[in-house]
Amino acid sequence: MKIAAIKTTPLALAFKEPYHWAGRVDYAAAVVLVEVETDDGLVGVGESVAAFPAEGTVAALRGVAPLFVGQPVFDIERLVTKARHLGSFNHTPWQANFVLAGLEMALWDILGKAAGWPVYRLLGGAVRDEVDYFGFVQGDTTDELAEDARELARAGYGVIYLKVGRGEAADLRNTAAVREAIGDRRLRLDPNCAWSVAEAIHMIARLRRFEPDWIEQPTALMSIAALRQVKETVGVPIAADQAVFTPADVYEICRQRAADVIVLSPHEAGGLLAFGKAAAIAEAAGVPMCLHGQGVSGITDCAQHHLGLRTANLTEGNQIMHQLLVEDLIAAPDLTPDQGKLGLLERPGLGVELDRDAVRRAAELYERDERYHHS
Ligand SMILES: [Mg+2]
Repeated sequence: MKIAAIKTTPLALAFKEPYHWAGRVDYAAAVVLVEVETDDGLVGVGESVAAFPAEGTVAALRGVAPLFVGQPVFDIERLVTKARHLGSFNHTPWQANFVLAGLEMALWDILGKAAGWPVYRLLGGAVRDEVDYFGFVQGDTTDELAEDARELARAGYGVIYLKVGRGEAADLRNTAAVREAIGDRRLRLDPNCAWSVAEAIHMIARLRRFEPDWIEQPTALMSIAALRQVKETVGVPIAADQAVFTPADVYEICRQRAADVIVLSPHEAGGLLAFGKAAAIAEAAGVPMCLHGQGVSGITDCAQHHLGLRTANLTEGNQIMHQLLVEDLIAAPDLTPDQGKLGLLERPGLGVELDRDAVRRAAELYERDERYHHS
């Protein structure tokens, strides 16, 4: 069974409400739908994480396509490694990972469909019957955030996740209100790299009375040293997110004992196999993994769910993102957590059924809406 063609479609995924985080406010996310066809007529779907404009991701996929077309679908490790080492990616290893993960996802979808089994079974089998997801608090004002947090707690989420890094006064006000709204449920705070080391130490000292479950990536993008300095000082659990992308980064975080937990997506790691390697390194170091989410649809949420089912050292309160969208790209399965949990997926492959009308609308939105391309 050989790869016959790779089709790419840039899409804009509009958020239901403005997505506030330390960096900025987002109104939509860019992804590229990857559809891989085989010579015997199977089609696998995947999703590459992009940024506006997504033409760079489309071009990168076009650039690696000749390495894949005509090759056996089964040779995932060999093909993806070869593509990652392609000259055009040498200066941008993360870009390669974000691009290639969508293509690799589609290959796993094909293998699952060919075998008649869900992907998690091909990746070692389930170590749990369900994966726990966090309730992602949305809103701008303190009242909006507290009300949404109350709703999420009422819906049964055991872990509630709040973006901070929006200024000291707002952070303290929002965290106090959300803590009060959710009672003794676990509360995670994510400033998304907003603070210097000194600011992080100051802010975490002020936020610790709200008993955060952990503080996620308080300091600079890619700095393991800053993360370690904060962790050694504050006495509150610290999660590494934007300081860790590849399995090699996971090794370095673990070697330096720079974080208590690692937040990672298959897009950051470079695919489902690479995520598995990263998780194995962390597992050997006694460090748990938490599934991370970029702005993605149910295609990626589904792929990540297979990883969640098969990863031994997984935390509770993993990230899921499709619920933030005006419209998901998939008609099935239903990925709405029950009490924060999603169970086994038994359809072959990733198990996703595309909603072709929704895909068409997302493609039109991408073509039409110039605002997103320059945000
Ligand atoms: Mg984060």
